[in-house]
Amino acid sequence: MKNKKITRKISQGMYVLTTEGGGCVVDAVIQASAGDNPIIAVAICKDNHTHQLLQKNSTFAISVLGKDADGEIIKQFGFNCSRDVDKFEGIETIEVKNTKVVKKSLGYIILEKVDSIDCGTHTLFLGKMIEGDILEDEEPMTYAEYQENKEDLLKITTEKGKTAWICTACGYIYYGDEVPDDFICPICKLGKSYFKEKED
Ligand code: FE
Repeated sequence: MKNKKITRKISQGMYVLTTEGGGCVVDAVIQASAGDNPIIAVAICKDNHTHQLLQKNSTFAISVLGKDADGEIIKQFGFNCSRDVDKFEGIETIEVKNTKVVKKSLGYIILEKVDSIDCGTHTLFLGKMIEGDILEDEEPMTYAEYQENKEDLLKITTEKGKTAWICTACGYIYYGDEVPDDFICPICKLGKSYFKEKED
């Protein structure tokens, strides 16, 4: 028995990873060591353009999103590709150590890349904290809360009279009676099983 659904019970948060040239929304961030310069690990899907950026950049940042995070930030960094759009456009940022971080966040951690581990679909990037601060002392948003409140948070509205299927990972909308078996989400590359029919 290998019920992978149990992995969904692992608590994760909501973060915006930024680096020169772009960034993305990430949920898999852990503090891997303590001390003066803690190591933070973040998993990035290899299909993601940010993965390419992280392979060449030496500095990246994690901005921690709060419970009341602005859905526009999640849309901008999560539903677009840095190849096509400037993800920083329209987003308030602060520049720290030549790296832009999200201003409307609970705070940021600036990391210097120290290692990376190939994990198959993803690469685990390890960064040493070189700077960081709290901007707002509020509760962080968990990935589970995001999943639960996503439609409101992202103000997902669908066209009336059409059957809509929403990608539960990213919010992409597919219109049609049924999602084709071989359908792949154009944003996050996940398959049919991730789509849920939108209820009116
Ligand atoms: Fe998706």
